[in-house]
Amino acid sequence: MTSCVLVILLCLGIAAQAADQTIALKAARLFDGKSNALVQKAVVIVQGDKIVDAGSNLPIPSGAQMIDLGDATLAPGFMDAHTHLTADFSGNYNERRLQQLDLNVSEHAIRATAFARATVEAGFTTVRDLGSRFVASREFVDVALRNSINKGVIVGPRMLVATKGIGATGGHFDPSGGFRDFLFGREPDYTDGIANGPDEIRKAVRFEVKNGADVIKAAVSGGVLSLADEVDTPQLTPAEMAALVDESHRLRKKVAVHCHGDQAAREAIEAGVDSIEHGSFMKPETLTMMKKKGAFLTPTLMASEWIMGKLDNYPPVLQAKAKAATAARSEMFRNAVKMGIKISFGTDAAVYPHGQNAKEFKLMVDLGMSAIDALKSATGNDAELLGIGQKVGTLEKGKLADIIAMPGDPTSDITATERVSFVMKEGKIIRQGPRTPQGTAEWTRSPDVAAPVD
Ligand SMILES: [Zn+2]
Repeated sequence: MTSCVLVILLCLGIAAQAADQTIALKAARLFDGKSNALVQKAVVIVQGDKIVDAGSNLPIPSGAQMIDLGDATLAPGFMDAHTHLTADFSGNYNERRLQQLDLNVSEHAIRATAFARATVEAGFTTVRDLGSRFVASREFVDVALRNSINKGVIVGPRMLVATKGIGATGGHFDPSGGFRDFLFGREPDYTDGIANGPDEIRKAVRFEVKNGADVIKAAVSGGVLSLADEVDTPQLTPAEMAALVDESHRLRKKVAVHCHGDQAAREAIEAGVDSIEHGSFMKPETLTMMKKKGAFLTPTLMASEWIMGKLDNYPPVLQAKAKAATAARSEMFRNAVKMGIKISFGTDAAVYPHGQNAKEFKLMVDLGMSAIDALKSATGNDAELLGIGQKVGTLEKGKLADIIAMPGDPTSDITATERVSFVMKEGKIIRQGPRTPQGTAEWTRSPDVAAPVD
C-alpha cells in the first residue's frame, strides 16, 4: 500500500516537473492575435501549458529551454470555425456518397484521427466542428474524437463540436435526401437532427446537448452538396429559428447556421444567431442588419474555391448550385469587408482535403481583406465567436500556450500561413519540422495532397 502511494507520488512529481518546464520561443517577429502591427524581436515565454510573458526583446529566464525560430513570425495557434473532421467529401462526389454506405462508422472514425492530425499540424490548434453525421447511424464520432484528443489518446486540435446539426425534412441536413425513399427503413427524426416545428427543434437541441454538443449548428437554407434542395430556399420558419436560438442560448450554447440564401439569413439574424456560415447570397441590407446585431460571418471561401476547381467531380445539379453560390459570394464578401462586419475564419474543411485550411487566408486577402485582419479572423475573432477568448486566441500572459510559427512576414506574404513550421498546443510541441506523411493509398494517389502546402 505504502509503496503504491510512493509510486503515485513519484509519478505526480515527474508530471509536475514536466508541467513546470520553461520554454523560451524566439523569432524575428510576432503577431499577438489582436494588434494592427507585428512586434519585432519577439520572445514568448511558456511555462507548463501557459504563456507567462510575450513581447519584444524579453530576457530569457535562466534554465529555460530556448528555441530560436529565426526569420519567422510567431502567432497564436490558428482556429477554424467551420470544419468537419469526421468526413472527407473532397474526391468524386458519387464515390464519396457510396463510401457513406459501405464504410463502417468505426472506419470513418479511424480516418478522422488522421484528419485531426493533419489539421493541427497545419497550425490549427482549435476547430469548431460543425456537423458529423453518417447515414443510418446514431454514432457521435465528433464527440469521441474531441474526447480522445482532450484525453491525449490521439493528436489533434481542440474541438468544439456540433454533433448532427439540425435541419428540416428534405433540407440540406436530411441524411436520406437524394436516396431512394425509405432506403434506410424510416424517416430521419430528431435523433438524426431532423426536426419540424418549434417544439421538435427544441427537442433536437436538447438531444444534441445531452449527447455532448458544445455548439448548435442548423441548416436554415439549402446547400450546395445536397441533392434534394435548392441552394437558397429558406428551410426553417422564423418560429423554428426563434425556438432554435432561444433553446440553445438558454443552455449556453452558441448557434451557427448554414445559410446561403438572403431571406433565410435575414430571418436567422433577426432570430439572434451567433454566426452565418457561408452567407453567399446576402444583400447589403442583410449585412447591415448583421452588423447591428453583432453576428459573425464565416465565409468558407475555400469550399466554393475547391468545388469550382473540380466541377467534374460533382453531378450537374450540384455544379449549377456551386456556380450560383460562388458567383454571389465574392461580392458579398467584399461588401462585408467594406462594411466592417465581424468576420470569423472558417473553411468547411472536408469539402477540400484536411490540412489545407490556411489557403483560406489568401482567398480573403484577394477579395479585399487586409492581411492583418485575415490573421485576426483566425485568432482573436474566432476565439470571440467560439466563446473561448479568455483562454486562447492571443499571445498574452495567462493564455494557454497555443503558439505557431511561419516563415517570413505574413503581412507582406499571406501565403506564409500555408507554410507553418512549428506548432505548440497547450505548451506541448506538436510539430517542429516536416508534417507527418499521410498514410493512405488514397492520399498518396491524390495530387492535391501529394504536394502538401509546405
Ligand atoms: Zn460545412
